[in-house]
Amino acid sequence: MQSNLRIAFIGGGNMAGALISSLVNKLAAPTQIHVIDLNPDSLQNLVTRYGVSTSLGTEQADSNLRSADLIVLAVKPQQLHTVAASLSPYIQSQIVLSVAAGIRAADLSRWLGGYQKIVRAMPNTPAMIGLGMSGLYAMDAVSMAERNVAQNIMQAVGDTLWVEQETMIDAVTAVSGSGPAYVFYFMEAMQEAAQQLGFDAAQARQLALATFQGAAQLAQQSDESVSILRERVTSKGGTTYAALCSMDASAVKPAIHQAVMAAAQRGKELG
Ligand code: NAD
Repeated sequence: MQSNLRIAFIGGGNMAGALISSLVNKLAAPTQIHVIDLNPDSLQNLVTRYGVSTSLGTEQADSNLRSADLIVLAVKPQQLHTVAASLSPYIQSQIVLSVAAGIRAADLSRWLGGYQKIVRAMPNTPAMIGLGMSGLYAMDAVSMAERNVAQNIMQAVGDTLWVEQETMIDAVTAVSGSGPAYVFYFMEAMQEAAQQLGFDAAQARQLALATFQGAAQLAQQSDESVSILRERVTSKGGTTYAALCSMDASAVKPAIHQAVMAAAQRGKELG
């Protein structure tokens, strides 16, 4: 990342904290980062941990906002309208990167007085530990170089995928945004089954979590598809085969497909 890039965060909560922590560790000097929040304790915490500069509210941050190359909107979705209105006077040519779930770029643009240099990011909770997956969408007014700047910021907390249609952000939400909960659900079921087989809760947790972690990393490091990897551990008539036949009989796969479609549908209704 450019060493002179200036980043202003509006909202210094969980998501901003994760981004700032990774940026300061990997990509940026604390002097490049300014954080605006209404909560003095959140700001003090960020100053102590990362050495960034801060302002209590947008008015105090006048010069930091005007001189920023990129403004990250990391407030709750319901706070974004008010924040955008207070930000409008300071917007010149900065890239505006919103991580707010479910707020359309066109709405944000309207709240910013028609400003169009907007990128939307849809991260997920593993971003908190630098292992997130973020979908990215940019309005047409965002140049390729500006897209790269936004992508670098989100890559500080994990992997990124660009979508060219904003509606696909709803699809990203349905797959990777809500996805950690699907995996936790499967983990829960595995732990319950392990306890039914006689393990205590700690042992069940260890068995389930290590299995997910190992399988995910094996899939990540392998050139093979997950289907091939699954087939490799499934010999006909064996134990895994018995388990997978049972899952097929219970229509687990179609149920997962339906669950993801239900999330996508709900995203459309809320958007
Ligand atoms: P949070 O509540 O931890 O942080 C929001 C911060 O904004 C708070 O510190 C609050 O004091 C501050 N704030 C409120 N109004 C303000 C204003 N007018 N000016 C300046 N600051 C103001 O929320 P979060 O979990 O960090 O979520 C932030 C955004 O990230 C949300 O829009 C959410 O949709 C998105 N997001 C979060 C996650 C996640 O894993 N936490 C995942 C995907 C998307």
